Amino acid sequence: MAFKQNMSIMFLGTASGGGPSESRNCSSLACDFMDDLSLWLVDCAEGTQRQFQLQPQEGFKYRVNKVTKIFITHMHADHIMGIVPLLRNLLCAPELGLAPAYSPTPKSPSVELYGPAGLRLYVRQIMKMTLTFTASTYAVHELLTQDDPVTPCDLPNDQSGFDHNTANQNVMHVREAPGSDIRADEDGFWKAFVSGRGRAHEIVVDAGSIQHRDPCLGFVFNEMGPPNRKIVILGDTYDASQIIPLCINPAPTLLIHEATDAAIPAAVDKEGKLSKRIPEEVTQKIIKRGHSIPTMAGDFAKQVNTSNLVLNHISARFPAPRPGQPWEQRATIMKEIERQATEAWGSTTQSAVAAQDFLRITIPMSGRASFVMPPPASQARNTQKRPAPSSSSGFVPVTGMHHMHVSGNSNSRPPAGPTSAQLGGQNAAPQQQPQDSSKAGHSNPQPPRGTPTAPAAMLTSSREPPTGPRSQGHGPRPNQTGQQNPQAAPGSVASDRDRPQKRRR
Ligand SMILES: [Zn+2]
Ligand SMILES: [Zn+2]
Repeated sequence: MAFKQNMSIMFLGTASGGGPSESRNCSSLACDFMDDLSLWLVDCAEGTQRQFQLQPQEGFKYRVNKVTKIFITHMHADHIMGIVPLLRNLLCAPELGLAPAYSPTPKSPSVELYGPAGLRLYVRQIMKMTLTFTASTYAVHELLTQDDPVTPCDLPNDQSGFDHNTANQNVMHVREAPGSDIRADEDGFWKAFVSGRGRAHEIVVDAGSIQHRDPCLGFVFNEMGPPNRKIVILGDTYDASQIIPLCINPAPTLLIHEATDAAIPAAVDKEGKLSKRIPEEVTQKIIKRGHSIPTMAGDFAKQVNTSNLVLNHISARFPAPRPGQPWEQRATIMKEIERQATEAWGSTTQSAVAAQDFLRITIPMSGRASFVMPPPASQARNTQKRPAPSSSSGFVPVTGMHHMHVSGNSNSRPPAGPTSAQLGGQNAAPQQQPQDSSKAGHSNPQPPRGTPTAPAAMLTSSREPPTGPRSQGHGPRPNQTGQQNPQAAPGSVASDRDRPQKRRR
């Protein structure tokens, strides 16, 4: 029996370091790549847990308690300040009256974190200083360059009286399990440093460095079997070219690239504030701050020949469009940002999509990505709650969502059409909830790279035939087949807090 495996992502925060703002939280992505009982997070800004609670799509929610792994792109505050509060809840409260005590043989960790040097110490010391004591354990695995120092995972010498050992940073937190120190290979990559068993195929994770003001990573999630979907999620960057070797062969199905700032032409700037800035200055300043403009994201998308491009980490200058209000200036500006990225990308068949909080992307086995924008508030409120069939993945399906298809399989791009702003949440009529239309044996493997791309699919809102609630069981897994990876403010001008000289993130 063949299994189908959806890969999906929910944007929990899309603001740059100038946020959180009225319309955007800071960086956090909930990823359901394996269609199993787990969620992986990429970055975990302050307020991440609340974003889980605020998902506007009634009855279709990612569940915070499904998080098993957290991938951190870099140590800037807008990407990590939600980690400890999240751990405190995921690891559950200890039995009442149980005194903290170190164990020489800690339980295997319930939550594992992967990120750059410094992550282990940051989590450890904040856990200690907030006197956090939990039932379960966590571990931090660091992706170290050849030069990064190792942060030891020591037990205390003296356990006669409990001490949080805040002063000794080499001593683990009482609920910390020793993590791995994973060195980059000679090419500077961390290949296949972790994997997860999906319902159909294994997902293998690679990482590579990208250029930002401080050390920063991009993560590549590879499906190890047809259709070999590949999701590339980059941290903050002004130049991601270092990671290109991980992003090609096959080309990404989805690329998430930052676009913090953008020059806005007067023709689309009805309020006249954003267009006062000189485009060259916008570019120079944002690169100095370690970030990108939409054309830089588009250039990278072109280089790696991605099938879908989503822009993320967006300045508070550009508040998210209000769902259902496509006439607003906010929506016009975001369409312009998408246009700039699309032009540089060179895609004549498809538009880049500017992310907003609670945008959900689903890529079924067919490879056809669907983008679901958050519904208008009135619709979210009015959607009838119903007991949700339990999903295997932390998803719960629902009807009445705004839905559109944006791409065909990862090597075919849809022809030009309305942008996400037009279709996603702005003026699309409520559509039926997308369901995985792939059938067993109906997966659509990517043709070899270089195969001419048919101007196939379409950028339309569409309905896929419902297939009913997802299977709740897991059953035997299929043999792994197919290609082997060679690698084992609201509305106004932002307070610009990404200035390196102030060390604000
Ligand atoms: Zn950032
Ligand atoms: Zn940053």
